[in-house]
Amino acid sequence: MKKRFLYSHLTWPEIRDLDKENIVVIQPFAAIEDHGPHLPVETDNLLINEICRATAEKIPDHVILMPIIPYGYVEHHMDFPGPISISAHNLIGYLSDALISLTRHGFKRILVANGHGSNRPFMDVAARIVMEKSEAIVATLTPYSLIKKEIKEICESQFISHAEEMETSLVLYLDKSLVDESKAVKEIDFPISKFHWRSLVEAPPLGFMDRWSRISKTGVVGDATLATREKGEKLFQLIVERMVELIHDFRTREIRPKVDLH
Ligand SMILES: [Zn+2]
Repeated sequence: MKKRFLYSHLTWPEIRDLDKENIVVIQPFAAIEDHGPHLPVETDNLLINEICRATAEKIPDHVILMPIIPYGYVEHHMDFPGPISISAHNLIGYLSDALISLTRHGFKRILVANGHGSNRPFMDVAARIVMEKSEAIVATLTPYSLIKKEIKEICESQFISHAEEMETSLVLYLDKSLVDESKAVKEIDFPISKFHWRSLVEAPPLGFMDRWSRISKTGVVGDATLATREKGEKLFQLIVERMVELIHDFRTREIRPKVDLH
């Protein structure tokens, strides 16, 4: 059924007539990559799409939801079968071209909602490029960062990184049929130091992305055996609640005219 908040459902006159000053365009962006022996390769896409969709359902008049950009930067996962990797420059160019198209149609507030940790630097650069070339404000967000404190309270394991307790719980909540719980494992076998660890929510001071096959045999980093549907439901509802708040803030933010002071 037609949804007014789905960009792909609108006609061109409907897009023309949108109140673009007062709408936040959400661009979901994630990846196809291995997620352990128990989760599908579309995990990151599924999670960010559902988070964005549930958010849009709550505030349908204030957002426009774009179709997901399903491929991201997953070069460090290419030793596993399954990932589809887009190289850094292509990814920045592709994402920024898509967003620039939106600004050419008059949209002023764009939010890239990211579901895959390693997309971060590339989407930040893309957002900056779009801001240089347009009047729009372009923000980026990995929604898990909205509930850092709550993740620590709800999840029992220390490392929330990849295909672990949090991601598995979220997929269990969204579509249990996609999870093979009998194959869920705990694997925390990367060299941990005071300055470097792996976390989707809290970046270590010493940042680098190791090749995944050096730090995991199963593709899991964390403890997937602790995942439950109940944890997933709590995490999901909290993320959506915060997303609604964040979008209100972004949508009502004053955009001042730029001034040439030469
Ligand atoms: Zn993931």
